[in-house]
Formats: sequence, C-alpha cells, structure tokens
Amino acid sequence: MTFKEILGQEKASQELKKFIKAKRVPPSIIFYGDKGIGKSLVAKDFAKALNCVNKDFYSKQEFCGTCLNCTHINNNTHPDYIYADFKYQANLLKEEEEKQQSVKVETVRDLTKKSQQSIQFGGWRVIIIDNAETMSTASQNALLKFIEEPSPNTVWILIADKKFALLNTILSRSQAISFATLSKENIATILVSQGTDLETAQQAAKYANGSVDRALKILDVIDDIESLDTASAIFPFELAENMSRPLIAARAEANILIEILLADLQQHWQTEQDEKQKRKYVKVLKEVSGYKKAILRNVTPNLLVTTAFLEAKKLGIEVLNFNS
Ligand SMILES: [Zn+2]
Repeated sequence: MTFKEILGQEKASQELKKFIKAKRVPPSIIFYGDKGIGKSLVAKDFAKALNCVNKDFYSKQEFCGTCLNCTHINNNTHPDYIYADFKYQANLLKEEEEKQQSVKVETVRDLTKKSQQSIQFGGWRVIIIDNAETMSTASQNALLKFIEEPSPNTVWILIADKKFALLNTILSRSQAISFATLSKENIATILVSQGTDLETAQQAAKYANGSVDRALKILDVIDDIESLDTASAIFPFELAENMSRPLIAARAEANILIEILLADLQQHWQTEQDEKQKRKYVKVLKEVSGYKKAILRNVTPNLLVTTAFLEAKKLGIEVLNFNS
C-alpha cells in the first residue's frame, strides 16, 4: 500500500513522507484545501505510515495496511488514533450530528485531555480535527497550549478548507500543507473506481469544481432527475417536486441544481455568437445568481428552483440534460 493511491494528492503525500524519513514530525500540521479532495484519507494514511510495524514499509515511509496498527487505524479502533469530526462531537455531546456547525471548546478540551494520556501501542498518537476552520477563537486558544508544548510522540492534524480561518498563533506553530483541487479526469476515475459508469462519472465531474464530495452529491441529483424529461414544459415543477422534504437537504439540493444551471448558462453564453441573445443570457445569469443567494434566506428552496429553471426555459435552451 502506498500514499499514491490517493489520486491527485501526490505532492502533499511527498511532503508528509519527508517528516517520516527525517523522523521529525511537527506537533501540528494543517491540511488545507477544498472539501472532498482527500485530506482526511491522506491524514489516515499518514497515521498508518507513522505507526506501521512492518519495517520494510516504514523504511520507505509507506505502510503495509495489514499489521495490527494499520488495521486498527483503518477501522478507527486504534487507541492512539482519534478522528474528531462532527460525528465524534455529536457523540461526545450527545447531540444530533446534523446540528453540529462548529468545533466546540468542549470537544477541544476532550481531545487535549486525551492527548496527555499515555500512548497505548507505543507508536505515534495522531489526533485529527476535521472542519478546523469552524473552530471558535475560544476553541483555538484551548488548543494552542497543547501545540506549543506537545505531549511526546503526538501529532495534531487540523483539516481545514481555508487555512486563514485559523488564528495566527496556531498558524505560526504549525506546518501547513496545501491540497490540490482535483482535475475532472481524477474525479471521474475515483467515481468509476467506486462503481459509477464512466459517462455518468464524467458528467458529475464536469460540475464538481474539483471536489469528490460535491461529485457524489451531483450523482444523487442525477439519479433523482434521470427519469424526468428535461425538455418538457413542466420540468421545472417536476424538478422541485422531486427534491427532499427536510429543509436542510432541500437547500443543499437547490444549491447544486442552481449551480449546475449557472454552469450551463455560462457555457451557452460563451459559445453564443448573437449579441442580442448574449445579452439575454447575461440577464438570466444575473437573476439565477440572485436565486442562488436567496437559498439560505428563502423558506422554500423548491420555489427558487422552479423559478430559476423557468427563466432558463424562456431562453429556449436545454439544461441539466444528463442523458445526451
Ligand atoms: Zn502496517
């Protein structure tokens, strides 16, 4: 097994391997880049490489994937490996996972307490904080001391979409590693490896803005609308009817549908030669952008979707045509 299996993140993996090779691991490493591009997978692999007991692999800064340490990390059952995401926080605070919006100071205190306990398996303790960009100032300050005076053989990995959401005091004491946005080809390859057919994978990748997470959400949308006739006059209404009932899910779907519509409109605008028609596209693009902004304010995202797609219909173009 090698780090290279995480497609598109070879550069970040190389930087991490240097730490293992030099036997000098910084107390805090920030992984930053868009959501859904493999940061948490790389963090897990790094934990395996640090703890793999198979010496042949360790000397190459890789991991075997089958030894006791590798297996336990893979199954999230390793006592010295903590992956603290919103699910972890929800369990800790006995709250619903959907309601977790930020990394709370209670979670940080729980983790810092655990960071001081003795290491069970004799290797490296790896504590990963996902969504680190949502840590409040209080949460970050609670963490700071433990980065400044780290417990032996302990590494904190802060996973964030933007590194500048973190305090300067945290940034200056951490190594920051940038993660690349994935190419359309890489995303399609990853989706195909998970069982999606090539054509659908390429269509999802086209709108995914370099994120596998987003591509997976687009696949759900494609799945929902595949049975609909995009050319039909009632399509904008059917589309809205097909959306999820819970508001949070409906908002997320509306966001994706309207973003796809905007991408399609932009493409039409770019290739259009007729100036008059071009101006019509600009007008609709502005209106639809406005609907996108309204999603968070509006109580009925379904209505916004219908209105946005009716606007596009007026232009006489076909959008969301995933079947062509
Ligand atoms: Zn191993």
